Amino acid sequence: MKIVVCVKHVPDLQAERQFTDTGRVDRTGGDGTLNELDENAVEAAVTLVEQHGGEVTVLTVGPDDAVDAVRRGLQMGADHAVHVIDDAIAGSDAFGTALVLAAALRELGKDEPIDLVVTGMAALDGLMSVMPTLLAAHLGLPQATLAAELTVTDGVVRVRRELDLVTEVLEAPLPAVVSVTDQANEPRYPSFKGIMAARKKAVTTWSLADLGIDAADVGEAAARTRVLEAVPRPPRENRVLITDEGDAGLRLAAYLAENNLV
Ligand SMILES: Cc1cc2nc3c(=O)[nH]c(=O)nc-3n(C[C@H](O)[C@H](O)[C@H](O)COP(=O)(O)OP(=O)(O)OC[C@H]3O[C@@H](n4cnc5c(N)ncnc54)[C@H](O)[C@@H]3O)c2cc1C
Repeated sequence: MKIVVCVKHVPDLQAERQFTDTGRVDRTGGDGTLNELDENAVEAAVTLVEQHGGEVTVLTVGPDDAVDAVRRGLQMGADHAVHVIDDAIAGSDAFGTALVLAAALRELGKDEPIDLVVTGMAALDGLMSVMPTLLAAHLGLPQATLAAELTVTDGVVRVRRELDLVTEVLEAPLPAVVSVTDQANEPRYPSFKGIMAARKKAVTTWSLADLGIDAADVGEAAARTRVLEAVPRPPRENRVLITDEGDAGLRLAAYLAENNLV
C-alpha cells in the first residue's frame, strides 16, 4: 500500500500562544511540534503498512520549522517525507493550504497511485477539521472522517465512527481519504533505532513552482477568510480552588451537591 499522511507543525500547546499584529498565530520561534492528533494518523498508516506491506510518506505544508513535523513522522516509522515550503504560502487560509496539499498529493501519486491519504482529526492550532474533506473534494476521492478504527481488506477501507448516539461502520473503495481520531490507536514512541534511522532519511522539499501552483492562488491575498481579532481569553473569575488536605474529594462532592451540579 502507498499511504500519505498529512502532518501539521503547530505551536506547542503547553507554551504561551502568541499572535501577530494581523491576528495570525505566530508560527515563528522554536516551540513548535508535530500536531499531537497527527501522531494517531502516522500510527495508523505505519500499522497498515506493517500489516499489508508498502510505504508511508509524511507530507507537510509550512515554514522552515515545519520540517520538524515530518522528521517526527520519520522517527515513528514513515519511509519518506515531503515538505512544501514557499514564502508565498504564508497567510493562506484552509482553502489555500488544501490547494497546496492536494497538488503535492497529485505529484506524489504521479508515478504510482496513492492508496490512502490519512490525516489527523484536527490541527490543534486552527481546529477546523476541514482539511480531509477539502482534500477529498480536490482529489475526487471518497472520504471517511473521524475514524475510531480503520482496517483495509481487498482494496476497501472500513472505518468505525463513534458519534453521539450511534456507532457507524462505513467502507469505501481505495483510494480514499480518512481522518482518524485519538481513539484509533496509541501512537508509538519513536525508538532509538527509529530516531537513528530517521536521520538518514532525506526530506524532499517542494516549492509552489515545483507543484505548478500560481502564487496568486494562495497566501493572504487569496484567503477567503480573515482573522479580525484574536485576543487571549481573560482569566476566569469566581474560581473555586480546593486545596487537598486529605478531604478534597468530600469537599468537591459537597460543592457539586450544594450547587445542584450532580
Ligand atoms: C505556512 C502557513 C501559514 C498560515 N497562515 C495563516 C494565516 O495567515 N491565517 C490563518 O487563518 N491561517 C493560517 N494558516 C493556517 C491554515 O489556514 C490552516 O493550516 C488551515 O486552515 C487548516 O486548518 P487547520 O489547521 O485547522 O486544519 P484541520 O482541518 O483542523 O486539520 C486536519 C488535519 O489536516 C492535516 N493538515 C492540516 N494542515 C496541514 C498542513 N499545513 N500540512 C499538512 N497537513 C495538514 C493534518 O493531518 C490535520 O490533523 C497557515 C498555515 C500554514 C501552514
